[in-house]
Amino acid sequence: TNELQGKKALVTGATSGIGRAIAVKLAEAGATVYVTGRRAELGKETVELIERAGGTGHFVVADVADIDDVRRLAKEAGEVDVLVNNAGIFPFSTTPEQPLDSYERVFGVNVRATYFLTAALVPAMVAKGKGAIVNVSSIAGQIGTPVGSVYNATKAAMDALTRSWAVEFGGAGVRVNSVAPGPIRTDTAVETVGEMFEEFSRSAPLTRAGEPEEIAEAVLFLASDRASYITGAVLTADGGLVAT
Ligand code: NAD
Repeated sequence: TNELQGKKALVTGATSGIGRAIAVKLAEAGATVYVTGRRAELGKETVELIERAGGTGHFVVADVADIDDVRRLAKEAGEVDVLVNNAGIFPFSTTPEQPLDSYERVFGVNVRATYFLTAALVPAMVAKGKGAIVNVSSIAGQIGTPVGSVYNATKAAMDALTRSWAVEFGGAGVRVNSVAPGPIRTDTAVETVGEMFEEFSRSAPLTRAGEPEEIAEAVLFLASDRASYITGAVLTADGGLVAT
């Protein structure tokens, strides 16, 4: 596929899991991909995977929990055609036991970084009259769970930003959508959810967990002109879980 030929894309949290799969997928579609994350050795691995697939990638180190780093990242990346807000953390706690610092951090990474990175990069898209932003939210933003209420709130917030930005920037030709994954087999998800991961995955109508590549496909679609009339949408990619 070459639907992103000549485009520049930035993917946050692309040093592992879903973000890495998205970075490789967008590069295979022809985009020059700015891979961002905190750990240089892992970022370089993603760039190597991109190069092995025949694409072009650049790593920019950034800790998006730090607002100064978010702004520096936006400056270093410059104008982009596609922005994928994927970096996210999911610390699970019950509400009475939720520590304040991890509350601030999960909102900082999942919502504040998404917000201010978009704020910094969207003006160039508006000036160009074209651009695509994809927020990687979660079905956690649509359903309740016994632990992780803060995480769920951040993901619902991301979907709310998707709808607001679709309205705010649609007239300028900038499309904004969410992909809301269900259980996806990444190291972090399997470790965090523990043995419940397999059980939860099997309870999906498709009876299995998703793979990072399956989320990357959904992101590529929304980032490409194939989705030219789609904005403000939340594309749930969850094996049918929220349909049950
Ligand atoms: P992951 O831990 O592999 O990916 C998260 C990425 O974000 C990592 O690369 C991590 O380094 C990066 N990140 C975290 N904090 C950061 C910070 N302060 N600065 C810069 N980068 C930071 O896990 P994943 O499963 O690939 O998750 C990716 C996204 O998908 C997350 O937003 C997550 O909420 C969402 N999601 C995952 C699942 C799942 O089951 N795996 C389900 C729904 C949604």
